Amino acid sequence: MVERQLRDRGIRDLRVLDAMARVPRHEFVAEQYWEQAYEDHPIPIGHGQTVSQPYIVAVTLDALDLQPFDIVLEIGTGSGYQTALLAELTDRVYSIERHEALAHLAEAALLRLGYSNVNVIVGDGSAGLPALAPFDAIAVSAAAPQIPKSLLEQLREGGRMVIPVGPADVQELQLVRKLQDRPLVETLEGCRFVPLIGDQGYGSGW
Ligand code: SAM
Repeated sequence: MVERQLRDRGIRDLRVLDAMARVPRHEFVAEQYWEQAYEDHPIPIGHGQTVSQPYIVAVTLDALDLQPFDIVLEIGTGSGYQTALLAELTDRVYSIERHEALAHLAEAALLRLGYSNVNVIVGDGSAGLPALAPFDAIAVSAAAPQIPKSLLEQLREGGRMVIPVGPADVQELQLVRKLQDRPLVETLEGCRFVPLIGDQGYGSGW
């Protein structure tokens, strides 16, 4: 997975590649999917959700340019796979998931693998986590109609956010840098994520 899907496709950050070689993706999916766990596609995790494609996770982590002492907010814990990678690369990860059952499963997998620098919170991540802001980096794993104002406010000056933005069928994965209190946006890739359902995302009708 690391050689063919990540390094050969341009992921260069050695810390990201090493972390992706260490974290066992199969531990975050049901046993019936273990054979596919290192293939280049999303995998169902229940409740209509998926664990993201490894390449897109790597692009996200690469662009976030994470530092060991960073405090990170993740929106959309899902299986907890990307959460584990964030926990490998930074000091503290707060991850919000709207499906309680998924949050509990992810928390159990993270504990089983020994990650003690992660807090999984059940709720609407589109509003962020104002009580613990500002964050050095924010990783959003569900597609938003536009960059949620709350998340931008909760990013520290100089901080980085990666977020898929756009309609249901196809989105752009955007890197947002906060500079002088304004967003500087760069498009990284085309992508297709499940919707961010919440106050500052899409309504529950999508
Ligand atoms: N990165 C995850 C992983 O490694 O498994 C995959 C995330 S999955 C593509 C997107 C997740 O975002 C789903 O679990 C979904 O329930 C969650 N989600 C959608 N809207 C949300 C919201 N407003 N707040 C928190 N989680 C949300």
